Amino acid sequence: MARKFVRAVFPGSFDPITNGHLDVINRGIKLFDELIIAVGRSPVKNQLFTPQERVEMIAEIVADMPGVSVESFDGLTVEYAAKKEAHVILRGLRSLTDVQYEFQLAMTNRAVAGIETIFVMTSEQYGFTSSTLIREVATLGGDLSNLIPESIRKRIQQRLNKGGRDT
Ligand code: ADP
Repeated sequence: MARKFVRAVFPGSFDPITNGHLDVINRGIKLFDELIIAVGRSPVKNQLFTPQERVEMIAEIVADMPGVSVESFDGLTVEYAAKKEAHVILRGLRSLTDVQYEFQLAMTNRAVAGIETIFVMTSEQYGFTSSTLIREVATLGGDLSNLIPESIRKRIQQRLNKGGRDT
C-alpha cells in the first residue's frame, strides 16, 4: 500500500540552533518526506541572533539534507502549519520537564487546529543542551564545541566580539 506523503513543521526559536535540534531534525527526516524548520519571529528574551540571521545559519547547515528547508514565521504555529499544508508538528523532548510544557502545547494545538504533534527523544548526550544555556555559556567564554555546530560557534564568537567592541 502506498504510504501517504507527510510534511512536518519543526517550530522553535533556534537562537541558536544546537546539536540537540540537529539530532531532532536527523530523526525527523527519517519519519517524514519533507521537514520545514520554522523559526519563530516573536521576540525572544535576550535574543542573540535576529530571526533572519538564524534562518541563514540554519540554511547553511541543512543545505545538503534532502527534503529539509528553513524559513521564519509570525504568529500562531498552527496557522503557519496550515498555510504550508503540513500534516504534523515535530517537537523534541529532552526530559520529563519538557513533557509537561510540550503536552500542554500539543493539546492546545490539537484543540484549536486538529493538528497532531509528533515527539522524538533526543540522544542522551544532548539531554541538557538548550539554546538559553548555550547563550549563557558563550557569554562567559565556555567551550561549546560538543554542543553546537562549528559554523554556529564561529558566528557566536563574532557576535560576542562585536558586542565587546560596541560597548
Ligand atoms: P521553543 O522556544 O519553541 O521551545 P527551542 O528552539 O528552544 O524553541 O526548541 C524547539 C524544539 O526543540 C522544542 O521542541 C524543544 O523541546 C526541542 N529541543 C531543544 N533543545 C533540544 C535538545 N537538546 N534535544 C532535543 N530537543 C530539543
